[in-house]
Amino acid sequence: MKKTCPVIASERSYVIEKEKFVPVSEYYGEDTFNLKVLKVKLPRETYKKIIEAINEGTVLDIETANIVAHAMKEWALGKGATHFAHWFQPMTGITAEKHDAFIDPIGIGEVIERFSGKQLVQGEPDASSFPSGGIRSTFEARGYTAWDMSSPAFIRRNGISTTLCIPTAFISYTGEALDKKTPLLRSNKAVSKSAVSIMNLLGSKGVKRVYSTLGPEQEYFLIDADYFFKRQDLVLGGRTVVGAPPAKGQELEDQYFGSIKERIASYMHDMEEELFKLGVPAKTRHNEVAPSQFELAPVFEEANVAVDHNQIVMDTMQSVAKKHHLACLLHEKPFAGINGSGKHLNWSLSDNKGNNLLNPGQTPQDNIQFLVFLIATVRAVYKHADILRASVGSYANDHRLGANEAPPAILSIFLGDQLTNILEDIEKGKVTKATDREIIDLGISSLPIVSKDNTDRNRTSPFAFTGNKFEFRTVGSSQSISFPTAVLNTIVAESLDYLAEKIKAQGGKNINQAVFAVIKKEIKEIKAVLYNGDNYTQEWEKEAGKRGLPNDKTTPVALKALVTQKALDLFDKYQVLSNVELKSRYLIRLERYIKDLEIEVKCLNNICLSQVIPAATAYQKGLSKAIIGAREALGKSVDFSAQQELLKRIVELVNKIYATDKDILAKVAAVSSVHDEQKKAEMLCSKVKTRMNELREYVDELEGLVDDELWPMPKFWEMLFIC
Ligand code: ADP
Ligand code: MG
Repeated sequence: MKKTCPVIASERSYVIEKEKFVPVSEYYGEDTFNLKVLKVKLPRETYKKIIEAINEGTVLDIETANIVAHAMKEWALGKGATHFAHWFQPMTGITAEKHDAFIDPIGIGEVIERFSGKQLVQGEPDASSFPSGGIRSTFEARGYTAWDMSSPAFIRRNGISTTLCIPTAFISYTGEALDKKTPLLRSNKAVSKSAVSIMNLLGSKGVKRVYSTLGPEQEYFLIDADYFFKRQDLVLGGRTVVGAPPAKGQELEDQYFGSIKERIASYMHDMEEELFKLGVPAKTRHNEVAPSQFELAPVFEEANVAVDHNQIVMDTMQSVAKKHHLACLLHEKPFAGINGSGKHLNWSLSDNKGNNLLNPGQTPQDNIQFLVFLIATVRAVYKHADILRASVGSYANDHRLGANEAPPAILSIFLGDQLTNILEDIEKGKVTKATDREIIDLGISSLPIVSKDNTDRNRTSPFAFTGNKFEFRTVGSSQSISFPTAVLNTIVAESLDYLAEKIKAQGGKNINQAVFAVIKKEIKEIKAVLYNGDNYTQEWEKEAGKRGLPNDKTTPVALKALVTQKALDLFDKYQVLSNVELKSRYLIRLERYIKDLEIEVKCLNNICLSQVIPAATAYQKGLSKAIIGAREALGKSVDFSAQQELLKRIVELVNKIYATDKDILAKVAAVSSVHDEQKKAEMLCSKVKTRMNELREYVDELEGLVDDELWPMPKFWEMLFIC
C-alpha cells in the first residue's frame, strides 16, 4: 500500500476563511433554550412555575408543559429544526438520541408542526438495545425518557440536519435507572440534604440547597484524518495496538503550553465557537505534555449541567475535527510510551447562594464549616477509595493508571503543607477552636496561592486539594464524569451525616468546641490517606501498602468494590442506586471490559496477519533475492553475514508474531466458555493482556527493520508530528 506522503498531509491548505468575527458574548448560548429565552418566550406565570420546578423539584402540570413545549417548538423551528430528540446517556457512556419530526398530518397531503407537553416530558425509546446489566430481564423490557428541566434543551446541527435535543433521564417502566444521569441527580439530592443539615447544625441559617460543582479538564489528541483511517486499531478501538515509540517523544518538553500550531488553533476556534453557541463555557485551551495532545478546560458549572456539557464537548471535539480533516482521539492511551489522556475532574460543593463550601472563609464560623467539609471529603475518600477507584475503572483507563505519568490506582489525597500542618496541629490539640489565629489565617492569608504552588509541584496526586476545590485526576479522558461524581457526592453525604452525628453526640459543649473535638479524633483515624509526596514512586506504593490503602491495579479486580455489602448498603441508603441497579452497573462495566479487550484482540490479529506479516515477508523476499543475487555477482568471498542476520531476525520475528497471535486467540477462545463474567474478565486480564504486550514488542521491532515504504501503517512519528 502506498503511504500518504507526509508532505501531502502538510501541504494541504487548512486555512479557514471567516466571513466576519462577532464577539462571543453576542452569540453565546444562542442554540440553547436557556432561562433567558424562557423568560422572553413564556408568560410570566409559566416562567415562575418552571423556575419553581427546577429549584424545588416540583412536578409540572400538563398545561404548563404544553405551553413550554409550544414555545420550545416555535424557537426550534426558527433555528431550522425539523426534528426533536430526547437526548439521554445510556450505560454505554456516550449519548443517545432518537429523532422524531415535528410534523403531524392534518389531512391527506397536509401536515403542521406540532409538539405537545406530553412529547416534551416523556419519550419511549426502545430500551432493549441498551445495556441494562440484567435489569430488563428482571423487570420490564420497556424504558422511557423523562425531561430534565435543569439542563437546557439545545440545537444540534449535523450536516444540513438540525434537531432540537432535550436532555432527559432514561428509566425503566418500573423506575430503575438505565442511564448515567439518574443516579447523578439522585446523588445531588443526597449530598444536598446532608450538607444543608450539617450547615444548620453549625449555625448557618437560610441555606436551602447545596449542589456539587464540576470543572472537567478534557485532554485529547488530534492527528491527521488520513493517518487515522489507515489504522484499524484507532478506528475500531481508539488505541494503537502496535507501533514503536518515535525517536523524539516528549522529552524536550517543548509541547506543554507551547505555541499552538495554525491548523490546531483554527480547529480550536471552530470547535469552541460551536461550544459557545451551545452555552458551554469553554475557557482555557493549551498544548498538553505529549506531542499532538491538547486540553480544554471549561468554567465550572452545577454538576448536572457540567456532565451534559462534557458529553457535548466530547461530541463536538470529534465532529468538528472531521471538518478539519483531523481525527480527535479521546482514548486514555492512544499511543503506548507517550503520555495518555485524563480528565481532571474539579469538584466542590456550593450552597444556593453560590458560596463555595470548600473555600476557606474569612471568619471563624466560615472556617469551621470549611474544616467540616474538608474532613468529610477526606474521610469519604479514605473510607471508600475502593468505590472511587472502581468508578473510573475501564479497559482503556488501565493503560494509563499507574503508568508513571498518571496517578496510580492508589487513591491518596494531597492537601499541601499548610493545610497538613493545620490538621496536625488540630490533631495534637494545639488548636482547639476557631478563634485561634492560625485558623482565621486560613481564610485571610494566601492559602489558595500557596496551594496552587503546591499543586504545580505535585501533579502526581490522584486527589488533590487545590485551594478551594478537589481535583480528582484519575478519571479517564473518554469517560462520562457522571458516575465518579455520583460516587463522590454519595460518599461525602455519608461522611457529612457521620460527622453531624458525632458533633451532636458531644452534647452540651458549644458547637465550635464540639467540632474541634470531633475533628481531632477523626484526623487520627483517616490521616493514612493523606500523602503530599510523589505518587509515582515505588516507595509510595510500599508505604501505601503498609498503611492499608487499597491498590487495585486492574479494572476487573477494582470493579468488585461496587458489589461489596458496604457499597450496596451505602448507595441504597442514600437512594442513589438500589442493589439491583448497582449490581447491574457492575455487570455492565465488567462486560464492557471484556468486549473492549476482545475487540483489541481481533484488531491485533487482523493487523498481524493481513498487514504486518505480509509486509515482513515482502521485505524478506526482496532481501533474500538481493543476497542471492549479490552473492552470484560477487562470489562467496564477500561477507553477507549482516544481511543474513537481518533476514534471519525477520523470519524469527514473523514466527514469533504468528505463534503469539495464535496463542492469544486460543486463550480468548478457552475463556469464552467461562460463564462467570468476573472470572472471565480476570482471566483475560491476567492471561491475555501480557501476551498482547509481548506480541506488540515483536511487531514494533519488525517495524524498525522492514523497509519504510513497505510498512502498511502510519508510524507514531508521522501521526504525532505531522499535522
Ligand atoms: P488549576 O487547575 O490550575 O487550579 P483553575 O483554578 O483555573 O486551574 O481550575 C481548573 C478547573 O477547575 C476549571 O475548569 C475551573 O472552572 C474548575 N474550578 C474552579 N473552581 C471550581 C469549583 N468551585 N468547583 C468545581 N470546579 C472548579
Ligand atoms: Mg488543573
